[in-house]
Amino acid sequence: MKVPVTPRVCAVCSRQTRGFGWFNPKLPRSHPKRADSYRKFCSLRCQGAYSNLMKKTGGKMIDPTEMEIAAMTDCLDPLGDYVAALGLDTPLAGYSRDQVLGLIEVVVTTYQDRMVAGHEAQAGVPF
Ligand SMILES: [Zn+2]
Repeated sequence: MKVPVTPRVCAVCSRQTRGFGWFNPKLPRSHPKRADSYRKFCSLRCQGAYSNLMKKTGGKMIDPTEMEIAAMTDCLDPLGDYVAALGLDTPLAGYSRDQVLGLIEVVVTTYQDRMVAGHEAQAGVPF
């Protein structure tokens, strides 16, 4: 029996999973694609957002590339604000470790928030 590869990152926001899951309930237990439909999530919020989206779209995923591009674009302003606060004349190589970690936190947090919000907006129903 083929064991499906299940990533340990949330299917919505890419955080580490924490025991929340989803599979396509419309596929019979013996259907070979049922295991492939299984997704893991970091939280009840992400699980609900994904589940609501699947209900709304009939199990078809929206174009994640478009949503990811929008989420990345939304990171530009917070990133610019962070860099400006450190001083625009400081090159990235001049950042301290904590400053680089702060930059990463600003971008990753914004990206994850926008991805969750994007999924929730697609589903149209907060839970
Ligand atoms: Zn998540």
